[in-house]
Amino acid sequence: MKYLHACFLRKRNMLIVRSFTTLLLLSCIAFKLACCFSSSISSLKALPLLGHLEFEDVHPASKDFGNRYQLLPLAVLHPKSVSDIASVIRHIWMMGPHSQLTVAARGRGHSLQGQAQTRHGIVIHMESLQPQKLQVHGTGGPTPFVDVSGGELWINILHETLKYGLAPKSWTDYLHLTVGGTLSNAGISGQAFRHGPQISNVHQLEVVTGKGEILNCSERQNSDLFHGVLGGLGQFGIITRARIALEPAPTMVKWMRVLYLDFAAFARDQERLISSDDDKFDYIEGFVIINRTGLLDSWRLSFTPEDPIEASKFKSDGRNLYCLEVAKYFKLDQDKKDVMNQVRSERIIV
Ligand SMILES: Cc1cc2nc3c(=O)[nH]c(=O)nc-3n(C[C@H](O)[C@H](O)[C@H](O)COP(=O)(O)OP(=O)(O)OC[C@H]3O[C@@H](n4cnc5c(N)ncnc54)[C@H](O)[C@@H]3O)c2cc1C
Repeated sequence: MKYLHACFLRKRNMLIVRSFTTLLLLSCIAFKLACCFSSSISSLKALPLLGHLEFEDVHPASKDFGNRYQLLPLAVLHPKSVSDIASVIRHIWMMGPHSQLTVAARGRGHSLQGQAQTRHGIVIHMESLQPQKLQVHGTGGPTPFVDVSGGELWINILHETLKYGLAPKSWTDYLHLTVGGTLSNAGISGQAFRHGPQISNVHQLEVVTGKGEILNCSERQNSDLFHGVLGGLGQFGIITRARIALEPAPTMVKWMRVLYLDFAAFARDQERLISSDDDKFDYIEGFVIINRTGLLDSWRLSFTPEDPIEASKFKSDGRNLYCLEVAKYFKLDQDKKDVMNQVRSERIIV
């Protein structure tokens, strides 16, 4: 009996000692982290920058389009120049790994899973670089291109290049995304079957590396960096400038959407169009319309009021629909343009 009692006391004492040690350890870690952060903050604040580091209003940078992850950063850098980005990254590199500071470039924050966020790190607000001028080159030649900032929106590139009758070869459907954001993924739309994704239509990049160096890279120059950064989700460097391939923009587009109830027929037609050698279409994209999401209703609304018969055909009885979206580009003079204007876009149900 005495022995059991002694055992119980020993166990209890050990538990108390363990709890105390854990508490002490946690307090030490918290204290160390607090010291670490305050020294990081003061050294970052001392950096001479054209732009600025924001330490207070950092909440918008802790969210993204997916709204699933919320990682509060230590600070947000609003760079006014590429050297601002280089200085901050070089500074963090010099602090060494014990600083535990990480960096995330942020375009429009249209990621879904926190890719443009970093807990207790530095988020770089790439759109602050936007005032850099877009420069269109080779307008009369066979290989025109545009030099743009990594924080530039694709919609602005379209507006600017159209002034020269040109447009990028490969797109995303939605254009309020940044160059750096889509080039860090792939950038896919209906032109990818012909030209490849956006990352296949870049001649050259300017990148700030993890050590804070500013390097140019291309197929021929620093090619490992070039291929690492394109589609690299911001893990191999920050894209500060990109040289994007252009082509003559169409003056008119004939746009069609074909709805399918049968997936096999939809997939067969899409594959046939994509692998066909003739240039029937310049844009081919397929997608699923999930009936639950109300997309079908917005589809009905996209019909002109003169199309009541076609609109009434959109019945899927709760099933998913499949849509093939195709477009043919034309370069027309003004007279023909007027004729084409009278041709409405077509929608067909299969
Ligand atoms: C409504 C909507 C429509 C979309 N449509 C399409 C579509 O048609 N085709 C398609 O391909 N995608 C599409 N996407 C996905 C979209 O391309 C990606 O989410 C893209 O990353 C968003 O760009 P962003 O500027 O918001 O980048 P962010 O979400 O801010 O960043 C994305 C990633 O890129 C990194 N990054 C950002 N800027 C830089 C930089 N300058 N240098 C290095 N890394 C950087 C970030 O750290 C992060 O890892 C769509 C997304 C939404 C929300």
